[in-house]
Amino acid sequence: MSAAAPSRQRVGAPAGTDVLVVGAGLAGLHVATLLARQGHDVLLTERRSSPTVAIRTTGIFVRRTLDDFPLPAEHLGPPIRRVVLYPPGIHRPVSLVSDRDEYRVGDMAPLYQASLTAAVEAGVRVVLGTRYAGRRGDGFHLVGRDGPTTVRARFVVGADGARSTVARDLGLDRNHHLLVGAEEVFEVSPNGEPPTFHCVLDPSLAPGYLAWVVNDGEHAHVGVAGYADRFPEGLRGALRRFSGAAPGLDGVDRPEAVERRGGPIPVGGVLRRIACADGLLVGDAAGAVSPLTAGGLDPCLRLSELAARVLDDALRTGRPDALTHYSGTALRARFRGRLTLRRALARIRTPAAGKTAFALLRTPPGRAAAGRVLFGDRSFPTPARTATRGPDVIR
Ligand SMILES: Cc1cc2nc3c(=O)[nH]c(=O)nc-3n(C[C@H](O)[C@H](O)[C@H](O)COP(=O)(O)OP(=O)(O)OC[C@H]3O[C@@H](n4cnc5c(N)ncnc54)[C@H](O)[C@@H]3O)c2cc1C
Repeated sequence: MSAAAPSRQRVGAPAGTDVLVVGAGLAGLHVATLLARQGHDVLLTERRSSPTVAIRTTGIFVRRTLDDFPLPAEHLGPPIRRVVLYPPGIHRPVSLVSDRDEYRVGDMAPLYQASLTAAVEAGVRVVLGTRYAGRRGDGFHLVGRDGPTTVRARFVVGADGARSTVARDLGLDRNHHLLVGAEEVFEVSPNGEPPTFHCVLDPSLAPGYLAWVVNDGEHAHVGVAGYADRFPEGLRGALRRFSGAAPGLDGVDRPEAVERRGGPIPVGGVLRRIACADGLLVGDAAGAVSPLTAGGLDPCLRLSELAARVLDDALRTGRPDALTHYSGTALRARFRGRLTLRRALARIRTPAAGKTAFALLRTPPGRAAAGRVLFGDRSFPTPARTATRGPDVIR
């Protein structure tokens, strides 16, 4: 099977598989690859014609991910150590510089392509341009360019993003607390500044979250995110206004044509019920995103590892209760502090309130707290298995 042109299963004919994974984002690709490497038959279906089109994410990977997962270094931008925080009005920013490399921005199209290649090489059967359209009897209905087909699978994995259809069909929890984000991406040349992550905390621009510029000297990402119903001029309007006056782009020529990205971001914390006898959820579908930073790349990789272990157990042992170990409740408990901070952030509704809150960041305790959030290695707990192959525990 060629990685560049993954095999398309013949549509129209019913088929069977151990695991049907819906969605070829990072979560779906990772869990599918791990399961195939364990010897299971895995079918991965993705509605986009390629995982390299319509990318949603900025692609900032935190240090913990870079330490723990073998991401291809050639598809990662230069390390970033510097974060600059701005109050409404973009005056008198607060600069935080880590003594370690904290972030690298992924060049996401080749990075997704490399993950797809790894999946195909592991033996995953990938069908692109094919949408999961719901359950039908004891099968799962897929609709591709050549028409519909029904697939029987022992388990289905919902890796289909923040608004998961699989979650709905399995009767599992669904995301209700969402932000929306949009950004523009373009190539830049180094402008003499160190690679920097600029964050503007202004509720009139990015209600409940932030506006950002990441300029690592190779690419610039200019974006805004917040609560969809609170953008006075709409998300696109806010992005237009911000990109006209965004910090961190001195001496940068912004090209006419830019890549546009965006989508919903679940920030309500890991959902409680993320598995049942027929399958489970991973990534955004499971709400595996930090409620505070809205980072979901590290969480989706970590949760996919747990999902693969639990499914491997279930397939090998045939134990009907194997998937009960895959529970969001224990993981969710680790997010209490971040959920409280998310609620606090959501309550800052005016630039004046934003400036008052920002004054705290200028104090030593405020800077220390910001440093812990930004450089603190706390993106997502690592689910670990006990030595006795008992229930999974959280480190
Ligand atoms: C603007 C923006 C910027 C972000 N920036 C960062 C960042 O810098 N760092 C970070 O850590 N996190 C970031 N996030 C969050 C992060 O991108 C996500 O948490 C992560 O990508 C989730 O991966 P996933 O595989 O779960 O979902 P997705 O990447 O959304 O993948 C879901 C896949 O399922 C497919 N799909 C959906 N429905 C169906 C269907 N019915 N049939 C078949 N396929 C289907 C979709 O096409 C998609 O490919 C950002 C999010 C947004 C919106």
